[in-house]
Amino acid sequence: MKIKALTFDLDDTLWEVWPVVERAEALLHDWLMARYPRIPARFSALELRELCDEIAENQPGIAHDRTRLRKEALQLAAGRAGYAEFEVDAAFMVFFTARNAVEPFTEVRPTLERLARRYLLASLSNGNADLRLIGLDDLFAFSLNAIDVGAAKPEVLMFEEARRRLQASPAQIVHVGDDPIHDVQGGLEAGFRTVWVNRTGRDWPGGARADAEISSLTELEAVLATWE
Ligand SMILES: [Mg+2]
Repeated sequence: MKIKALTFDLDDTLWEVWPVVERAEALLHDWLMARYPRIPARFSALELRELCDEIAENQPGIAHDRTRLRKEALQLAAGRAGYAEFEVDAAFMVFFTARNAVEPFTEVRPTLERLARRYLLASLSNGNADLRLIGLDDLFAFSLNAIDVGAAKPEVLMFEEARRRLQASPAQIVHVGDDPIHDVQGGLEAGFRTVWVNRTGRDWPGGARADAEISSLTELEAVLATWE
């Protein structure tokens, strides 16, 4: 069957995310140090991140919403540090702006430009990256994230919403991503064809395998050509 659309994971598929998150956490730490010093005195960046995980565990209903988790963790930390008043939105923006200062892998834009001439492209992310801030939004028909959809990958909801908006059957869509569970298992369960992006030569962790494996997006066009 002819391939009509490609859906892409973002973090660790189009750019490396952890160095950027760590830098964003460091900048937030400095901002807090200047305005609310008792917070960083009491919570390291890692402990603030762990607070997010703790909130996600206690409130599974918001676990898919990375923005809400970050804000609630900051608010909780401010309260525990004894601040009755705290500018949570301003603090979050410091983190969020830095978190979107990502550097796409060099092959990403040229490859996506070529693919966009042939296929509809959409992004499906569990994170809170903003393609407009990153400067790739012109290549995508639309972007879905777990916050808008109300559920994270591998749940079928985001794939289902993408399929509906792409007006394609699952077999006409190829999902491309780095995470064996979120992207490969999720994509397969939605009936999409899947491509595992394995940039670091990891062993496959087990479970149903992707239809193809690539180590960079430059290999994607050849894979699609064999399927066309
Ligand atoms: Mg990813």
